[in-house]
Amino acid sequence: LGKNLKKFLKRNGLLTLSVFAVLTGCTLGFMLRGTHLSTQAKIYFSFPGELLMRMLKMLILPLITSSLMSGLSSMESKACCRMGVLTVTYYLWTTFIAVVVGIVLVIIIKPGVGTEVESNRLGGGPVMTSADALLDLIRNMVPSNLIEATFQQYKTDLVPILKVPARTIQPNFVYVVPDDTDPKGRTVYLELTPPPEITYKTSPGSSQQMNVLGIVIFSATMGLLLGRMGERGAPLVNVCQCINECVMKIINAAVWYFPFGIIFLVAGKILDMQDPSTLGKKLGWYGITVLAGLFVHGLILLPLFYFVLTRKNPFSFIRGLLQALVIALATSSSSATLPITMKCLLENCHVDRQIARFVLPVGATINMDGTALYEAVAAIFIAQVNDYELDFGQLVTISITATAASIGAAGIPQAGLVTMVIVLTSVGLPPDDITLIVAIDWILDRFRTMINVLGDALAAGIIAHLCRKDFPLSGSGKVIFFFNL
Ligand code: ASP
Repeated sequence: LGKNLKKFLKRNGLLTLSVFAVLTGCTLGFMLRGTHLSTQAKIYFSFPGELLMRMLKMLILPLITSSLMSGLSSMESKACCRMGVLTVTYYLWTTFIAVVVGIVLVIIIKPGVGTEVESNRLGGGPVMTSADALLDLIRNMVPSNLIEATFQQYKTDLVPILKVPARTIQPNFVYVVPDDTDPKGRTVYLELTPPPEITYKTSPGSSQQMNVLGIVIFSATMGLLLGRMGERGAPLVNVCQCINECVMKIINAAVWYFPFGIIFLVAGKILDMQDPSTLGKKLGWYGITVLAGLFVHGLILLPLFYFVLTRKNPFSFIRGLLQALVIALATSSSSATLPITMKCLLENCHVDRQIARFVLPVGATINMDGTALYEAVAAIFIAQVNDYELDFGQLVTISITATAASIGAAGIPQAGLVTMVIVLTSVGLPPDDITLIVAIDWILDRFRTMINVLGDALAAGIIAHLCRKDFPLSGSGKVIFFFNL
């Protein structure tokens, strides 16, 4: 047994350390919760975790651009087209299935029926419409400024217009809304009770997140065109291949820091967590419904699809991905996990390098099965809380909008919570009721991110199998290609 354990640790040392780090982070976080650290102390404490996130985010841009540009440039148009169509079709199909699983479970379990969930709901009216959100998605596909796209994505901002009756100001109820009426442009927070009457006007704005979708579309187009340019495009293709290799080397070195960073990332999050005892029982059932859906989709349906389409053992494939799944759990970000997913796919699962370079970045941007499932469950939970009967047509609307909303969600922590507005408004539910589920969103986010990452990686395995005849010369990360020399 000792010998076997040694062998296991030697082969899976990093993975074991990462799992150990998650457990240590949880223990440390819960132990320190009682000590009521000051905000400053929490910032210092979370610093190693912050560094980990920064490292991962640093690698996203060079990895996506170099992967797509070099990957697509070396493919034939026909093979490329086939792979593209297969990938997008598979992604849409599995996301839709995930939504259906979520809807079926939430209808059976009924977590929100007869609920008495405490909420600090706004009295104000609806916010952004589905049409606004759809337009934002399309705007993000066509970034007007590429440099700006590397740090900003387009997002319609909601500007609150307050109508505050003087008598409403009471000190004992904290109700925080940003007041943009301050003449000096500072953000002033008002504390009011009962909630002031608020209406919203939408105004085009932008959020401080990288527009990954825009960058994916631009890089894929460049890659396709570079491939058609032959000799003239070769220098740029070479540069991209060099960048890609360097990024993978940086990842190989950085992974040894990850277990240390994970401890503080996880512990810091637990320190900030709302007290679980304040959560309603029904909210617990809602959480269980989401987790059950993620389990069914991620560990039963997706492996089944993998098995049916490739005739290979899905669980040995998933074993190769464990490191990426732990990072997804720790960071709640499928974009930040992308470098590790790429490493696992190439080195452990031996997926064709050209295919992984295309399927993964696209998947990390548009394929979020876990997010779609969770959005559908959350929307129906909110309907149940409001005693709002949804008819079949509305369920169909939810399944379509949840699929669209997950495509629009960025691969960053809690992005799904924001795009859920699309799903809620599409069936006339109050978007402000998102506040009902915020308390446990941070933990659900971690698990849905794992399923998002798993979905992308299994897709790469499936597409590699289905397109194997188109790429007979290719191989996995260990193989050196003629164009890499
Ligand atoms: N955190 C998720 C991801 O990065 C997105 C979400 O559902 O909020 O994949």
